[in-house]
Amino acid sequence: MTRVEIPDRSPFGLHNLPYGVFSVGGGAPRVGVRAGDTVVDLSVVLTGSDGDEAFAASSLNAFMAQGPDRWAAVRQRVHDALTADVPHEAVHPVSAVRLHLPIEVADYVDFYASEHHASNLGRLFRPDAEPLLPNWRHLPVGYHGRAGTVVVSGTDIVRPCGQRKAPDEDAPTFGPSRRLDIEAELGFVVGIGSEPGSRIAVDDVAAHVFGAVLVNDWSARDIQAWEYVPLGPHLGKSFATSISAWVVPLAALESARVPLPGQSPEPLEYLRGRDDHGLDVDILVEWNGEEVSRPPYREMYWSPGQMLAHMTVNGATARTGDLFASGTVSGPERAQRGAFIELTWGGREPLTVKGVERTFLLDGDEVALTASAPGPDGTRIGFGEVVGTVRAAR
Ligand code: MN
Repeated sequence: MTRVEIPDRSPFGLHNLPYGVFSVGGGAPRVGVRAGDTVVDLSVVLTGSDGDEAFAASSLNAFMAQGPDRWAAVRQRVHDALTADVPHEAVHPVSAVRLHLPIEVADYVDFYASEHHASNLGRLFRPDAEPLLPNWRHLPVGYHGRAGTVVVSGTDIVRPCGQRKAPDEDAPTFGPSRRLDIEAELGFVVGIGSEPGSRIAVDDVAAHVFGAVLVNDWSARDIQAWEYVPLGPHLGKSFATSISAWVVPLAALESARVPLPGQSPEPLEYLRGRDDHGLDVDILVEWNGEEVSRPPYREMYWSPGQMLAHMTVNGATARTGDLFASGTVSGPERAQRGAFIELTWGGREPLTVKGVERTFLLDGDEVALTASAPGPDGTRIGFGEVVGTVRAAR
């Protein structure tokens, strides 16, 4: 038996306990919890009446489908186990494991919940019109993304090819995107879904959502700008969406609850909750190792509960493994913008990265997102990272 050492002030302390899927050597993937710089194998630690086959699995889906009572019981049991000795074979340094995509993604929806981001994109894409379209303050605008191309942090991103047509060109051409960008977002993972024809109320978010991940919604702005009218994003985004390897339980984000920044006009009744709230999550964007932005999630206009309520208000089912992301997180300040198209104002105001003027991503560039939120007693709750390196188009 051994004791898991958790460094003081670790963002992966006992108040966090995020879940992931890992393997060691060529072994089978299984479910683990991160504590400090250690991954603890739940298929070893939770046995007998505590355990079941959900932890000897290659995704969190079976565990997530067991529901909030089981999530709470397991979280307590893991907490207890880590304050005592655990079997030696359950403990691995995080540097010695391979981290896998933690969930089998069912459906993927991406929202557009930041007023600052939506306004900036409106100014860039439609310079002669009102920045926000008339529906924006009445409903959380979103689109259905591609679940099959959600990848785990560390996966290389191949530059997409497609049609692009600049405003000063007469006809589109085909080739590698010249305006490859990022979108720094939070994503929410559904554990318990809903029946066809039913809807999920804003205040029931905790009965359905298992946890949160950090998301980079890679975006080819030239492909997007040409294709998006009138049906929205398609190939400019579907080539890859990266998520963090760790799913932070919603229960770990209690201390991160903050009021929404204020909604006017008041949304329709189905978008109102008595207990609705935002989340105080600080995101950091690093480009080739240099900090370029700190997007604040607390500024988001629409809440996760409102997004889930809107997603199911027409009777569409939610399913175990559904991922719904917030849309780019941007704050009011320039250094709080979560996409390079905003940070460089459409490429017209380059950033200096490692001493070089930069606008969009070049082959070989690495982008790393990290995030943390307040936990109880002055602790921080870490989300880990979402890292990706851009590879040349094929
Ligand atoms: Mn997005």
